[in-house]
Amino acid sequence: MFDKILIANRGEIALRILRACKELGIATVAVHSTADADAMHVRLADESVCIGPPPSKDSYLNIPALLAACEITGADAVHPGYGFLSENARFAEILAEHNLDFIGPKAEHIRLMGDKIEAKKTAKKLGIPVVPGSDGGVGPEDDAMAIAQAIGFPVLVKAASGGGGRGMKVAQTADDLMLALSTAANEAKSAFGDASVYLEKYLQKPRHIEIQVLGDGHGGAIHLGERDCSLQRRHQKVWEEGPSPALDAAARAKIGATVAKAMQEIKYLGVGTVEFLYEEGEFYFIEMNTRIQVEHPVTEMITGIDLVLEQIRIAAGGDLPVTQDEVVINGHSIECRINAENPVTFRPSPGKILQYHPPGGLGVRIDSAVYQGYVIPPYYDSLVGKLIVHGKTRAECLMRLRRALDEMVVEGIETTLPLFRALVREPAIIDGDYHIHWLEQYLAGQPAG
Ligand code: ADP
Repeated sequence: MFDKILIANRGEIALRILRACKELGIATVAVHSTADADAMHVRLADESVCIGPPPSKDSYLNIPALLAACEITGADAVHPGYGFLSENARFAEILAEHNLDFIGPKAEHIRLMGDKIEAKKTAKKLGIPVVPGSDGGVGPEDDAMAIAQAIGFPVLVKAASGGGGRGMKVAQTADDLMLALSTAANEAKSAFGDASVYLEKYLQKPRHIEIQVLGDGHGGAIHLGERDCSLQRRHQKVWEEGPSPALDAAARAKIGATVAKAMQEIKYLGVGTVEFLYEEGEFYFIEMNTRIQVEHPVTEMITGIDLVLEQIRIAAGGDLPVTQDEVVINGHSIECRINAENPVTFRPSPGKILQYHPPGGLGVRIDSAVYQGYVIPPYYDSLVGKLIVHGKTRAECLMRLRRALDEMVVEGIETTLPLFRALVREPAIIDGDYHIHWLEQYLAGQPAG
């Protein structure tokens, strides 16, 4: 097992990793930018190192500064959390070159899945169903119109290096295609330094359903059921739940087995998420994330498995904690991502939290790094915290969520709490009857079909 882990992240996920380390008896090193000197992860870690000024590129993405922090503190492994360097294969390799362990998958798998065109080809080869689309990238030399017509409009132009919904443009008809291609490519070039794009059939009313996996790196791999992340705004998840209201045990077992088998075949190491769109009983692979996800607590609540703790154990050479037969889905869980944003315009609302009261009670969990008097800096994401609720049934979970949302107090900044208080009372949400475009239609005041 590791003696000391450096946590190359901030906010709630840094705290989440710190908690797992404490339970395992591993010493922790927090790193922080000058903007985060008063952050909770810095206060609770055994040691901390300032790694640079506020902009992420100069601090949380600053590899030489992170290596120096490992060297100074004698850390033997790095946990990257999500975002920042978590899906940077080169970072994993550099750590290895310095005899440091990267708590995450093998660099080759990070690289493979980071290129969505290659990821899709690999998924197809492994017997995972994919969204119909172009066979590979669509460049200037290709006849994009012919490819799009063969797929059938509407089509979605997607960036090979995409993430966070960026570099994605819909072409409803042939007239929109050229503009969609150039806008997506430009956006991808500036966000990811890679202009390659590909085409996919644009699905009209799918759900986003993702399968959590855990692999030991030697051919052992299991799945831990699904999360339904269909409630999205601008392709960003807002509300996640598990099990999906749209799947039954047989459908879950079938897609789960397909995914677990694929992970066994590639000898996947650590935690990962295989993402699908699901429409009319069919699954379509869209991408794989090779890291711990924001919404991982949903799976923890319904399986009782501590994903971050297991991720650390497995990175240190440990076995899978359970066999597939021992995985039991227990009850229902919902997570709300509460952001420091205006609940109508979604404009970020950084600033000082004057009053803070997190809800509590049976089945209520808050993963957050804020406290009363904390100032949310303007430089990073606007997550205030994740409210995660568990119940024996979906109905009980919703009842508890309604109560917890009403109890929660965050004053001094604007938050998206009012949006969740409204959503949890919406008939379509109560019925579990929604798809990936539902929330945007609801926010636009249109009847969501
Ligand atoms: P990113 O890596 O940018 O998050 P994803 O491929 O995971 O991109 O897609 C994010 C979201 O975009 C999906 O959850 C879904 O809402 C939407 N999306 C992606 N592909 C399609 C598609 N082919 N048809 C319709 N919506 C899609």
